[in-house]
Amino acid sequence: MNNNNIRKVVIVGGGTAGWMAAAALSKVMKNRFCDIELVESESIGTVGVGEATIPQIQVFNRMLGLNEDEFLRKTCGTFKLGIQFVDWGRKGDSYIHAFGEVGRDMEGIPFYHYWLKEHLRGGSQDIGEYTLTALAALRGRFMRSVDAGNSPLSNIAYAFHFDAGLYAQFLREYAEQRGVVRSEGVVTKAQLHPDSGFIESIHLDDGRIIEGDLFIDCSGFRGLLIGETLGVGYEDWRHWLPCDSAWAVPCEGDGNPIPYTRSTAQAAGWQWRIPLQHRIGNGHVFSSRFMDDADARTILLRNLDGAPLSDPKLLRFTTGKRDKFWHRNCVALGLASGFMEPLESTSIHLVQSAIARLLSLFPNRNFDRVDIDEYNRLTHFEMDRIRDFLILHYCATERDDSEFWNYCRTMEIPDTLAQKIEQFRANGRIVRANSELFNELSWMEVMLGQGVIPRGYHPLVDAMPEEMFVGRMREIKSVIERSVEAMPSHKAFIASHCA
Ligand code: FAD
Repeated sequence: MNNNNIRKVVIVGGGTAGWMAAAALSKVMKNRFCDIELVESESIGTVGVGEATIPQIQVFNRMLGLNEDEFLRKTCGTFKLGIQFVDWGRKGDSYIHAFGEVGRDMEGIPFYHYWLKEHLRGGSQDIGEYTLTALAALRGRFMRSVDAGNSPLSNIAYAFHFDAGLYAQFLREYAEQRGVVRSEGVVTKAQLHPDSGFIESIHLDDGRIIEGDLFIDCSGFRGLLIGETLGVGYEDWRHWLPCDSAWAVPCEGDGNPIPYTRSTAQAAGWQWRIPLQHRIGNGHVFSSRFMDDADARTILLRNLDGAPLSDPKLLRFTTGKRDKFWHRNCVALGLASGFMEPLESTSIHLVQSAIARLLSLFPNRNFDRVDIDEYNRLTHFEMDRIRDFLILHYCATERDDSEFWNYCRTMEIPDTLAQKIEQFRANGRIVRANSELFNELSWMEVMLGQGVIPRGYHPLVDAMPEEMFVGRMREIKSVIERSVEAMPSHKAFIASHCA
């Protein structure tokens, strides 16, 4: 064993981020490599929201070796095929950002270029007609992929909705079984080494001192170690992502959960609806610059599909990111590292990808600068591209019915996003930069859904003879239609697998 190895990892915070980190590290380190201790405080509690995910979470679950049905049973989870956006581009409009394939690529050209050709000459108005997951979502159908050759049923992309508190509890059991030590207590301060400025230990309110080599800050918005102790700054993105508050409340469900998240635009923000097995999660994300708390609360309660199960809880946040995510011997994960609002359910994914990045650049006690710089560079890139994707939902709108939407429609946007929109408008092209989270299909679906319609399409689409083009489009649509009809209802699937 290399005596320069990390001997102890200390995780501050036991929300989703803290327990995801503890679970992943305990799995990889197999209770042999080093000690892992997690400190959390019941009196402080967790943010308690964060119920929708994206398909990449399956990779995390597989890495942990979780049984998916057991995981869903324990978290009262449901399946998610995408997000429906209502009233975003225009009032009365809706579209689905669906996961997975759209149509079928032909001659090496993405299918959506063929669809654009059809659309631009007055044909299909909705690319969702060619998207298995979008159609299945709207019809309340769900199944996992089966081995069905070329059929779209062989490749069904999905994510989950789950109860965030139960998820953290589930991961806690997992991590504790693998040797992670949990300590209850309030961290009052951290002790720094006088020369290096590295964190040596944290102090708890009852006098305990916990020493460590690597500290993972999962303390939530407060950023106890990365911000308060080490003074790493925060880049504020509210000029691009102006929502800074949310009211959240669960309500009764009807026992027939839909397999998608619904996001309905409101006058100064938007409202989420996340169906779980036992209830529906709801929240109204809004900008306090454009709406006061009382009005936002009223809107939330007016738009519930069932009786509220508690009083709404108000959360405040500043959209943005840390100037550095890893500084000295401290890595910030989750809300401590930044927050971009929950519009595309990316926060839990960002925790997951940060853990993967940390594992691939895992330090020894030298804390080599080059690895830390690389970690920060990759994390900045990832967050900046997600930020652009979220801004797209706000800026590409025709809505002019409130001050909020007038601001969003006319605000200056990052050059990287402006360039992407311009390129899409020209010939429908999206160039996905290396390791960017959202792929061409996600960008395309949101661009079209928000009303950004290209003037042209990939020229090589015209290489296909007209008769073949018409025949193939018809065939793809009919295969998707038949596949969706062959799927069981989401409710039936849950009942037979994971209720
Ligand atoms: P927290 O849950 O805040 O946990 C912080 C932990 O630190 C707690 O255990 C607390 O006790 C501990 N702590 C803090 N200070 C101290 C101290 N001094 N001493 C000891 N312990 C301390 N993400 C998604 O992926 N999908 C979603 O749908 C989604 N929806 C969201 C909606 C809203 C309105 C918000 C605000 C966030 C949403 N998120 C969503 C984000 C998601 O909730 C978080 O990314 C995730 O829960 C991780 O939170 P966390 O663990 O970083 O912080």
